[in-house]
Amino acid sequence: MTKEEFETSDLADKGSLYTYIRRGANGQLISVPYHQQFAKEVDRVSRLPLMAVDLAKNEGLKKYLKLRAAAITSDDYQASDMAWLDMKTNQIDIVIGAIETYEDQLYGYKAAHEDYIIVKDMEWSESLPKYGAFLPDLQRGLRVPDEYITESLGTDTELDAYDVIYYAGDCNSSSKTIAINLPNDEEVQLAKGTRRLQLKNAMQAKFDKILIPIADMLVDDSQRQHITFDAFFSSTMFHEVAHGSGIKSTINGQGTVRMALKEYASALEEGKADMLGLYMIKQLHDRGELTADLMDYYVTFMTSIFRSVRFGASSAHGKANMIRFNFFNEHGAFEKNSETVKYRINRENFEKAMDQLSYMILKFQGDGNYDQVSKLVDIMARIRPNLQKYLNKLSDAGIPVNILFEQGIDVLSL
Ligand SMILES: [Zn+2]
Repeated sequence: MTKEEFETSDLADKGSLYTYIRRGANGQLISVPYHQQFAKEVDRVSRLPLMAVDLAKNEGLKKYLKLRAAAITSDDYQASDMAWLDMKTNQIDIVIGAIETYEDQLYGYKAAHEDYIIVKDMEWSESLPKYGAFLPDLQRGLRVPDEYITESLGTDTELDAYDVIYYAGDCNSSSKTIAINLPNDEEVQLAKGTRRLQLKNAMQAKFDKILIPIADMLVDDSQRQHITFDAFFSSTMFHEVAHGSGIKSTINGQGTVRMALKEYASALEEGKADMLGLYMIKQLHDRGELTADLMDYYVTFMTSIFRSVRFGASSAHGKANMIRFNFFNEHGAFEKNSETVKYRINRENFEKAMDQLSYMILKFQGDGNYDQVSKLVDIMARIRPNLQKYLNKLSDAGIPVNILFEQGIDVLSL
């Protein structure tokens, strides 16, 4: 199928997250709902949450599991998403279904199935500061025209910390997910907000096994002490918070940003979340709400770019980080020590670049100009020779791109 054929087709649900596009008997395009395309699989999968209902002690969890089983077999997730947000006191949680659209490399429309089994760290979650109240105010402080941030955002921003005990499907493919902000359904988001889940054992593993070795190799000795787990955890957390800011719809009647920007929407949205997350950190730091050295956040953030560009250009996160590296490079946000081939941040330029890149992304999302964004991605989402040199050093040293989980019933000794 060519893109043109898809675009000119009048199939009503072609853009749906939950349909397969196939050819019918006469060669014409038809859509097949996931629950029909995968009838055997979803039937099997949906029995498992129902079995878990009998084991669950928490009433909210029981209700959610029942609704989720029904959602998996009908592709109608809304009621189960609502029930998921309503449950607050359960310690065990199961995120399951067709959820994220990163796997759709053509347009980013189609969701892929995945499953996490997670255990909430009740104490850690309790200790996470409640920043929700600040969000509307922070959002107003953004240096973009008002129309680019007009939508009201839920202040009910739940932040919780979990340990993951099982990953399957989309979240377990390629770069392992370390934080999630769900549900994705905009209607549910407007009605009830979202929940941000920090998957701290997975985050810690990436920090220890990947980020620290990268820092040892690439960060100038004068700034090496600024790499901290706390900063890594915070920037991951505020990335998720930032997904809830900005706008979901274009400002000129082109519908949602996701539909207008098609296959570039995810990369831009991830870039936005990274930049606005960092912006929030700076703002909260200026207000005295965050007390660690601001340079901890900056240096850890910058080093994490080297980690994430390694996900490659087929990943939305990889692309977002390539754009950012090149943008920061052009704006002198970091300087290379030609003797040691390590880099250090130039704080003044770094902050300027941060502002300008945030501005650009928010504007591009609001304008929903597909051609403009495709040009940006073409030019900027690339690994140029200067970055490649750094990356070669990392792979020569055998620093892993990813972590793999040993998981399952045996590992848990169940
Ligand atoms: Zn994200």
